[in-house]
Amino acid sequence: MTVIIVFFVLHWYSSAFAQSFFLHRYTSHRMFTMNKFWERFFYLFTFIAQGSSFLHPKSYALLHLQHHTHSDTEEDPHSPHFFQDVLQMMLNTKRIYEEYRLGKRKGPNKFADAIPTWDLVDRIGNSMITRLGFVAIYVAIYVIYAPSIWWFLLLPIHAIIGPLHGAFINWCGHKYGYQNFDNKDHSKNTFAIDLFFVGECFQNNHHKYPRRANFAVKWFEYDIIYPIIKLLHWTRVIRLLDPKPAAA
Ligand SMILES: [Zn+2]
Ligand SMILES: [Zn+2]
Repeated sequence: MTVIIVFFVLHWYSSAFAQSFFLHRYTSHRMFTMNKFWERFFYLFTFIAQGSSFLHPKSYALLHLQHHTHSDTEEDPHSPHFFQDVLQMMLNTKRIYEEYRLGKRKGPNKFADAIPTWDLVDRIGNSMITRLGFVAIYVAIYVIYAPSIWWFLLLPIHAIIGPLHGAFINWCGHKYGYQNFDNKDHSKNTFAIDLFFVGECFQNNHHKYPRRANFAVKWFEYDIIYPIIKLLHWTRVIRLLDPKPAAA
């Protein structure tokens, strides 16, 4: 049982970190820079952490920038205010994500060419064989270590962990919570301390300051990824563009 709990927690947080740190804060917003070695390190980390639900970084970034440009309008790929339920919202998100991935839709941003890509990892990560291979590893771990069949109910979470995190953040982050700023959209801060989605639920703060690496703004808010970002800055793995963001 201990192995299963450790595996679940590790997978949850490594995937959430990959999405927040690499796909969102670096690939989409360039809140910090890093050299090619570290870029490839975190690219590979994202592939392994997200595993069966690996999200193609460039398509993620383009989709996400479209979300910022058109937040909570009809052009927003995943505003909860235009869909009946979270499944419809995520199906639309997937459709637009695939259009970016297949080159059928152009990026909304003039920096699109600067978004990091790694063809080999993209090809391997997007292949169905790789995705099923990761699922087989998750199942094998549960077959070996789960003390009862009920634990297998957690397996679907492992299989779709990337989009699952995205679904919660996109739906709740624009529907439930409080607002510090009037961003002319429905962005909300769902939690003051976001323990499970590593700061991503500070949508209201983030839409106000899209390139601010610390998503927490008020004294009572805490972004649990930001100390890691500062540590990576001090150890020169990354260079923060704004090492001392002003308080609001
Ligand atoms: Zn948002
Ligand atoms: Zn963003």
